[in-house]
Amino acid sequence: MVKSKKQLRHLLKLNKSEKQRKISSETSKKRKGKLHPKWKGGRKISSQGYILIHEREHPNSFISGYMFEHRKIMEKHIGRYLSSKERVHHIDFDRQNNNIENLKLFKNKTEHQQYHTLLRSFVREELCRKE
Ligand SMILES: [Zn+2]
Repeated sequence: MVKSKKQLRHLLKLNKSEKQRKISSETSKKRKGKLHPKWKGGRKISSQGYILIHEREHPNSFISGYMFEHRKIMEKHIGRYLSSKERVHHIDFDRQNNNIENLKLFKNKTEHQQYHTLLRSFVREELCRKE
């Protein structure tokens, strides 16, 4: 849940500049390649702006052999595979911020959508309260 006004302000800054994104994804790519000798190099951004990683062996990867990195990170965290119904939400709305602290698991699409609706009304209220 939303804890503070500071967090709410953060929620409102929905979009990082494209340039910033490019730089951060490129530096992490370099670091991974260097530190992981077995890294297959597969890492790209989906059309919706999510990070895709190459995981051909994963039971729920796409036909292309890629899967969403945020789902993989959540699976690692909870120690099991996610079902296709489960949804992983990005708390700061940055689809490329896949730190586990930024990810929140929902049982299904409906619960995820309800959370978004709740957040929207919460943010609106906060905005109205200011001046
Ligand atoms: Zn979400």
